[in-house]
Amino acid sequence: MKDVKNPRKPLIYYYLIAMLVIMVFNAMIYPMLINRNVENVEYSTFLTMLADGRIKAVEVQDQENSIAFLPSDEEDKHVYTTVMMDDPQLTSRLEKAGVSFGRVAPREPSFLSQLLTTWILPIVIFVVIGQLLGRMLAKRMGGGNAMSFGKSNAKVYVAAQTGKSFADVAGQDEAKEALTEIVDFLHNPEKYAQIGARLPKGALLVGPPGTGKTLLAQAVAGEASVPFFSISGSEFVEMFVGMGAARVRDLFKQAAEKAPCIVFIDEIDAIGKKRDSAGLGGNDEREQTLNQLLTEMDGFDGSRGVVILAATNRPETLDKALLRPGRFDRRIPVELPDLAGREAILRVHLQKVRTEENLDCNAVARATSGASGAELANMVNEAALRAVRTGRQAVSQQDLEEAVETVIAGYQRKGAVISRREKEIVAYHEIGHALVAAKQSGSDPVHKITIVPRTSGALGYTMQVSEGENVLMSREEILAKIATLTGGRAAEETIFGTMTSGASNDIEQATKLARTMITRLGMTEEFDMVALETENSGYLSGDTSLICSAETGAKVDEAVFRVIREAHRKALGILRENTGKLHELAAYLLEKETITGEEFMEILNRPAPDKTEG
Ligand code: ADP
Ligand code: MG
Ligand code: ZN
Repeated sequence: MKDVKNPRKPLIYYYLIAMLVIMVFNAMIYPMLINRNVENVEYSTFLTMLADGRIKAVEVQDQENSIAFLPSDEEDKHVYTTVMMDDPQLTSRLEKAGVSFGRVAPREPSFLSQLLTTWILPIVIFVVIGQLLGRMLAKRMGGGNAMSFGKSNAKVYVAAQTGKSFADVAGQDEAKEALTEIVDFLHNPEKYAQIGARLPKGALLVGPPGTGKTLLAQAVAGEASVPFFSISGSEFVEMFVGMGAARVRDLFKQAAEKAPCIVFIDEIDAIGKKRDSAGLGGNDEREQTLNQLLTEMDGFDGSRGVVILAATNRPETLDKALLRPGRFDRRIPVELPDLAGREAILRVHLQKVRTEENLDCNAVARATSGASGAELANMVNEAALRAVRTGRQAVSQQDLEEAVETVIAGYQRKGAVISRREKEIVAYHEIGHALVAAKQSGSDPVHKITIVPRTSGALGYTMQVSEGENVLMSREEILAKIATLTGGRAAEETIFGTMTSGASNDIEQATKLARTMITRLGMTEEFDMVALETENSGYLSGDTSLICSAETGAKVDEAVFRVIREAHRKALGILRENTGKLHELAAYLLEKETITGEEFMEILNRPAPDKTEG
């Protein structure tokens, strides 16, 4: 963060100082300039001095009704005044003493001091204030000194300053490998020059938020031990047209001076957006900045060892010109971590906290499929916080598992008041999910079932954790998953003959899954392998838009409807066949509130109990 002071305070100080200067001037120096040294004496003293011939010149000041005179033995600076008396002989006395009549006391300031006070001084004061203001403004607009508008404020890092190395980045082995090559080039350029290999000028790190792109760039800086210029794309975006471009120019000038070095532009989509003529006149400032960036990237000689890294999670919005060979010609995907990656990330972050021995990171990693590095880091921190909250010295496995749930579903709502009947419905709903999952081949084993409400609004949930990592999902697995999602509602219907709002999230997920299966995975007879939807922004929202005709769209809706209905029927069938187990498990869950997958399976596989239920 820049250190921006409250601008109003200094401004007032400057004004106060200026006022003080003026006041001092008025009170002391000005009168001194004008009045020299004036001494008031009595008329008799005047007469005595006149008689003694000690007066050189006299001036009669009618308006002020006084006489000013200069003594002959002192310097001209010293002026005496005395009151004018009604003295008819004064003229003859003066003549007799032989003093000259004339101007003695300066009634008006001299031309020089007048010039000084009315013209030069105010100008000086205003120039000084103006300078101070200008300097302050320049500082606030991001420049360093006065008159440095548009200078880049890229921070210069040296090796030790980021304090990060590749060891801090867990997983992401492919990205690390690609970046290692760049680091190596900066260390031994000759090795590459011998063969005639040319280093890519720029590398673009792309991936979802929180996967460690910024971290990787910092690690490269740490590993490369060359100067590392880091700037965020948004810092180029300025209020005035042309300033961003000036910043880019300055950044590259600095980089060229420091070569070999690395320039890192984070969140480059802020300036690298596609230039198009959409909208009124476009965005001039951004376009100019981008153009300048393109020019600079062409302009410098890659063999000199300036490597440009950039990161973004919206690669699809970037201007094509930015991605062409010779600019960001290497694209390094930084994807969400896989199972091994998640485990490694957990270990890296667990190293920083005190833990109990033999924590099972693998189990936690399996439960966090789809989580980013940042989320995993957050989970470890939540676990540590929980350990502190419960007054323990080290993080336990339970802390970690609870932290996972906290990050996924929010904190437990201990004080939530839920009526007995509603708790019952929730219990049956969750057991419904678990039972449908367990009774189908191809679904992940149940890991945990809970009916403790969460701050996210969930009243309970069933956690399924896969045994290993599967990268592919078969049609059967998807259908099983949809059926599992409908299992909660199916249980409500079977047991209570009603429907509750508790299934809203299940419905959303099931519909999305069914739709994806049809429109993007080509898993239906009807539409074969035709893409009916495309993803809009790969890494962020996951929004899609239909790319088929409206008629086909309507048919897709029908197909989605059929898939869901089919799954729902299947779930209802499974629950009807296993009503006994449903009752048994729901009663157990109601009692315990949270049960593990093992407990669940144990009860499920227990031989049918005696009919003791009411
Ligand atoms: P982004 O990809 O959005 O730039 P960051 O690099 O800012 O993500 O990552 C945010 C935080 O997440 C990091 O500071 C780090 O604590 C954690 N993190 C993300 N990925 C990893 C990883 N692969 N290894 C270790 N920590 C990671
Ligand atoms: Mg980032
Ligand atoms: Zn549900």
